[in-house]
Amino acid sequence: MEPNRFSGQVAVVTGGGSGMGAAIALRLAAEGATVVIAGRDSGKLEQTAGQAPEGSTIVARAADVRDEAAVAELIDGTVASYGRLDVLVNCAGVSDVGLFEDLAASTWHDIMAVNASAVFHTAKAAIPHLKRTRGNIVTIGSSNALRNNYGQAAYGAAKSAAESLSASIAIEHAAHGVRSNTVHPGFIFPTGMTGPIADLPGDVLDIYRSHIPMRRTGTPEEIAAVVAFLASSEASYVTGATVTVDGGLNQVMHLPPTATPRPLAPGA
Ligand code: NAD
Repeated sequence: MEPNRFSGQVAVVTGGGSGMGAAIALRLAAEGATVVIAGRDSGKLEQTAGQAPEGSTIVARAADVRDEAAVAELIDGTVASYGRLDVLVNCAGVSDVGLFEDLAASTWHDIMAVNASAVFHTAKAAIPHLKRTRGNIVTIGSSNALRNNYGQAAYGAAKSAAESLSASIAIEHAAHGVRSNTVHPGFIFPTGMTGPIADLPGDVLDIYRSHIPMRRTGTPEEIAAVVAFLASSEASYVTGATVTVDGGLNQVMHLPPTATPRPLAPGA
């Protein structure tokens, strides 16, 4: 780990109370950033803030990313309190499960609001501050933006919109020194979103794993490592990029195989 890549910097991580957002906040804080985590569940946010590595600062702020005014208050309040904004990580997200014919308009709008419109709200509020620091934005998309999954029509559409918006922001602000990139996680476990899958009857987790070329799920920390790289000056020439972090998942065509892959030996 590079301990000082974010020394003196300030970051905002939405969805920072659990899962990948919490891992990202802990990673940025461990590398020197003052991190403001935002979400709807104050208890979870305080719990993550309480895990801040010794000598680092993670501050919990309740904010619903669907609410434009609350997001503006979050971003401007962060700058008022800590003097600057260097990194914005859009990690808040919700998913839908249910086929398109059963998809209610209200669900569609909510999934779009949290996963896509929120990126509009946060970026709008953050960009004036990021221009001053030549800072950057990392948006958490999903493999679902690249390949569609049964029962996740709204989620896939929202994550595609978020990726596209992230790239548009990149090209329009590159000349101002502001970068914007997207990370598409594959199947990351356990998080608030995927944890309940372990409780489903049958061997659902094993079936998921069997579809992933690396034969395992990813960890929140593996996403945090890539986000930290993109947010750091080591990625100074990277903008408008999408990085998939999915153990190879999106490179597989899930049709019956013409040659059965050799299963990995346990522990290999
Ligand atoms: P998670 O449920 O632990 O994290 C999502 C966070 O977003 C939660 O803390 C939740 O409170 C917060 N959130 C939801 N709605 C919000 C709102 N309106 N305002 C503020 N915060 C809100 O699950 P996770 O898997 O860590 O998800 C993190 C991100 O990764 C999400 O954007 C998700 O879509 C994406 N993702 C997850 C996976 C996976 O396999 N877990 C795969 C691809 C992408």
